[in-house]
Amino acid sequence: MKIPFNKPYFTGMETEYIRQAVASGKISGDGLFTKKCQALLEKNYGFARTLLTTSCTDALEMAAILCDIEPGDEVIAPSYTFVSTVNAFVLRGAKIVFADSEERTPNLDVRRIEALVTPKTKVIIPVHYAGMACDMDPILELAQRRGLVVVEDAAQAIDSSYRGRALGSLGHMAAFSFHETKNVITGEGGMLVVSDPRFEKRAEIIREKGTNRSAFFRGEVDKYGWVDIGSSFLPSDIIAAFLYAQLEHIEEIQKRRKEIWNRYYQGLALLEERGDVLRPVVPSYATNNAHMFYLVCRNLQDRSGLIAHLKEDGILAVFHYLSLHKSPFYQDRHDGRELPNADRYSDCLVRLPMYYELSDDQVAQIIGSVLRFYGVK
Ligand SMILES: *Cc1c(COP(=O)(O)O)cnc(C)c1O
Repeated sequence: MKIPFNKPYFTGMETEYIRQAVASGKISGDGLFTKKCQALLEKNYGFARTLLTTSCTDALEMAAILCDIEPGDEVIAPSYTFVSTVNAFVLRGAKIVFADSEERTPNLDVRRIEALVTPKTKVIIPVHYAGMACDMDPILELAQRRGLVVVEDAAQAIDSSYRGRALGSLGHMAAFSFHETKNVITGEGGMLVVSDPRFEKRAEIIREKGTNRSAFFRGEVDKYGWVDIGSSFLPSDIIAAFLYAQLEHIEEIQKRRKEIWNRYYQGLALLEERGDVLRPVVPSYATNNAHMFYLVCRNLQDRSGLIAHLKEDGILAVFHYLSLHKSPFYQDRHDGRELPNADRYSDCLVRLPMYYELSDDQVAQIIGSVLRFYGVK
């Protein structure tokens, strides 16, 4: 494949910071670089409290424990999302009530979630698809009125905002990913943001295997022990050292990704005018962090054809989620409601290559190939 879908970007400082972490004599969790990453993220985005985790999946599993999910509790989440968004809650016995996506964005349709709330509903999980905000104010208002917890799945949403407020700072808590396919990476890694101070102490404990070791290290207790349930959710400081190098370069990474995104957006405008595809919509309340550039084809056949055509030209474009309400695991548990927009994105959405080192020439080549597929010379 001449142009891959993703290529992890190395800023150059990763190995030096890893060397420094090793030289410090402490490479387990919550070392120097973990603290540096957390402080930087809190400062840049105004997050109240951040905790690095081994993945976004783990941050979501922490969130499910913090929400005190018990068997039978209901959780509202989009069907068009990654498995981990809801699997974390299913592990604790939750029933997932899937919401449909909006007509023009894969984000959950806020106007239609209130009808899904029952006395058993405990949590709403807005997923900021492609790093573009869900309409958070109505979600937060609904949650407040009905006593629900809001957990943002901000896996794709670093450095993006909603009406001037950073994504990940709006709900009671939020989960981010630093998987190698995201904008800022550390191979496998993630972060839990805790914005409601009610959850802060317990989050530390859950992350440290159910012990109050964090309080012990701060000298707040004279011995530590088993005080709650938990697991080993904290990453090695080697992971954090890698991440710190990335975070130091986030401005430059974001600048380049946005350039690529805008080239795609402009270069493919004609196809939208012709009615061949839809390009992403950036809602007026959202910013675009250029996590992803996608097109929505007219149907599955067009999409399969486009992917095959690009492949012949040496370009790897990929589809994305398959509606979770129709998954082998959940279809028999789903309540049977049709979710047509989620299904349409499952069938018709295609993602084009998007990574820092993608050159202008390559972007032009990809645009040219897409245009040729639709008969534009
Ligand atoms: C990437 C992603 C995850 C999972 O992240 P990991 O760090 O790989 O666990 C969860 N939700 C969404 C929306 C994602 O894009």
